[in-house]
Amino acid sequence: MTTVESRTVPSIEKIHPDLYIDGAWTPAASGKRFDVVNPATEEVLARVADADAADARRALQTAADHQAQWAATAPRARSEILYRAHQLIMGRVDEIASVMTAEMGKPLAEAKGEVAYGAEFFRWFAEEAVRIGGDHTTTGDGGNRIIVTKQPVGPCILITPWNFPLAMGTRKIGPAIAAGCTMVFKPAELTPLTSLVLADILTEAGLPAGVLNVVTTTDPSAVVTEWMDSGLARKVSFTGSTEVGKTLLRQAAGTVMRTSMELGGNAPFIVCADADLPRAVDGLMIAKMRNIGQACTAANRVFVHRSVLDEFTGLLSDRMAALEVGDGATEGIQVGPLVEPKAVAKVESLVDDAVSRGASLRCGGTRPDGPGYFYPPTVLADVDPAADLMSTEIFGPVAAIVGFGDAGHPTDPAADDEVLALANDTPWGLVGYLFSQDADRLERMSAALEVGMVGINTGLVSNPAAPFGGIKESGLGREGGRLGIEEFLDVKYLAVPVRR
Ligand code: NAD
Repeated sequence: MTTVESRTVPSIEKIHPDLYIDGAWTPAASGKRFDVVNPATEEVLARVADADAADARRALQTAADHQAQWAATAPRARSEILYRAHQLIMGRVDEIASVMTAEMGKPLAEAKGEVAYGAEFFRWFAEEAVRIGGDHTTTGDGGNRIIVTKQPVGPCILITPWNFPLAMGTRKIGPAIAAGCTMVFKPAELTPLTSLVLADILTEAGLPAGVLNVVTTTDPSAVVTEWMDSGLARKVSFTGSTEVGKTLLRQAAGTVMRTSMELGGNAPFIVCADADLPRAVDGLMIAKMRNIGQACTAANRVFVHRSVLDEFTGLLSDRMAALEVGDGATEGIQVGPLVEPKAVAKVESLVDDAVSRGASLRCGGTRPDGPGYFYPPTVLADVDPAADLMSTEIFGPVAAIVGFGDAGHPTDPAADDEVLALANDTPWGLVGYLFSQDADRLERMSAALEVGMVGINTGLVSNPAAPFGGIKESGLGREGGRLGIEEFLDVKYLAVPVRR
């Protein structure tokens, strides 16, 4: 068994850098490997197995071979595996967080937060595994009983992005295990190490061989197309960009596969004239800066009523300029690097475009020298709604502020309609944030926002107990909450004649 070496993160030495198929760690058939790089230092952390379509086929065949047996396990047994895994993760918070920070860049304190958040999906779905219900009714004429049952959908394809290396995996693996599904799991190529730790933990927790199969690759299209076209999988659960999501939806049509799609966002963050401004600034610091701005839920467009625009912009700029930027592994660092050089170039060009269209830079805006893929916390005021960053996921620490309403008429209700039209002017619909102290306004505006989730006077909506997901081009289905497990269950109804 091979293990990798890292000069700086001792816990990485213990990670198996191979594919995890049928309960065993095996290199890719081709023998190929790829580098995993620390975005803060540009150091190579590990060389991980680089799977091709043949490896992918073997992994999915394994999952399919184990489906019937796994579906037949007692719900309590599945629940206890998830409980044990939750406890094992929580017993290794520091170690997992250090791996996550090294491969993805988020500061250690945030990584520890994600470990707890990610583990909680296992506890939540441990509780759901033994609560899978059905229904029992009678036909109108009284002639038949209708017994509605739920069954695992079958072998699943799980695909995750790099931005939450643990939680995006547990949010899918948890309900799949709870429902009795086997799975192939492909983590993002930028951040595979946390998922490899997770596979180890689930094995230690007692997950039988073949239920979870983990495939790492630099050729996601080849691996996933093999899975999508195989006819062996019954479900694909994807978190990532809308563009890739659309490709998968087209591929899923080939075998009429069930789909869950957690895609991109373009979240509006609305500060009304009557908002509690310090609270709104606190909310934006979370909604914007969580994960260094690299979240689907990140506040992408900040709309502030003109009567409070100057005060809000000043408060926000002071907070953003005071943040400590650096290697997230260092104590006290609040903002780590972006995940890769491409991400920095994108953020830089979006800021340049906004400035060229008249936006004013209140802080940040200048990329530092390397090493590391850093971009500073940046505030842009007077942003032209036609600027590119208003219609693109910024995915970086840049707050783009647009004024709305009439500065001299803070109570004019026309401002609400004006900002709602701006907020809804996007093909995405994941989340929106509303800050106001007027309950009627909040109720009316949250109903009118075209999104799957609304943060009301808060900048954080993610929670394992909540149904996370979007509408429009932000996706299909929900993860977490009471609905999360339903995505992995098929309904079967039994017609039972009533004998008189
Ligand atoms: P991405 O779409 O590039 O990659 C996501 C995953 O898809 C990765 O595992 C990648 O290897 C894989 N992939 C890439 N091309 C593929 C292909 N042709 N076929 C099959 N799989 C393929 O996205 P990303 O850059 O890793 O993540 C950022 C995106 O994810 C953003 O758009 C963000 O908003 C979104 N996201 C959404 C949520 C949500 O819950 N809605 C959560 C986190 C991230």
